[in-house]
Amino acid sequence: MDERVIKLLELQKTDTKIDRLQEEIDAIPAEIAIHEKEMDDLRNTYQEKKRNKETNDEEKTKTLADKQAMENRRTQIKTQLLDAKTNELYRAMQEQIKHATAKISDLDGVILDLMYKEDELLRVLDEAEQELEREKKRSEKRNAILQGQKAELEEKMESLLSDRQKASVCVDVRFRDKYERQRSSRRGQVVVPLKNGNCGGCHTNIPSQAGVEISQGETYVCPLCGCFVIWDDGSSFAG
Ligand SMILES: [Zn+2]
Repeated sequence: MDERVIKLLELQKTDTKIDRLQEEIDAIPAEIAIHEKEMDDLRNTYQEKKRNKETNDEEKTKTLADKQAMENRRTQIKTQLLDAKTNELYRAMQEQIKHATAKISDLDGVILDLMYKEDELLRVLDEAEQELEREKKRSEKRNAILQGQKAELEEKMESLLSDRQKASVCVDVRFRDKYERQRSSRRGQVVVPLKNGNCGGCHTNIPSQAGVEISQGETYVCPLCGCFVIWDDGSSFAG
């Protein structure tokens, strides 16, 4: 095989490692984002439970105030009762006292319900808070691990890029320029095997004479995709 193509293959091998490593590095922020979204959901759930509890508290405070007002009103009427000048007025005031007592009893029922509800809401809120705290700690730990992994991968990348630099200077400059152009314009490999008589890059059929020459180590550039087509262990002619 052409010495220049062999050097190019070495460069490509390093580039393949670089691409895989880059994918691993890119996956880390994506994973962190997924966990952040989970944390956001938990925070929202907690806030919702907190609002539910606050609404119930407000309702309870208001109902207690209503009850207090009704009790004051009843006390006031009871005091005035002693001064009632007519039987009619007396009866009317007694009716008002009865009405106030019934209303107070209703409000007591409402307050009791709100207190039961408060216990339940508090329990649910505590649970949500505990889960949030647990997940916050877990998330911090996980993020630290992921950041550590990222730093390690980035260190590996530095070393690979240095390998690439070394491999790159060994390649014939014309071949290298062509390779770099190809690599930046299309994804995947630039040096590809002949497979079933086809270019391993674009699957175009390659004339059989060219195929034979490739198998003998000639350098062949696919006219369609521009890849260097070589003969490797997995290569074959058209079957
Ligand atoms: Zn091709």
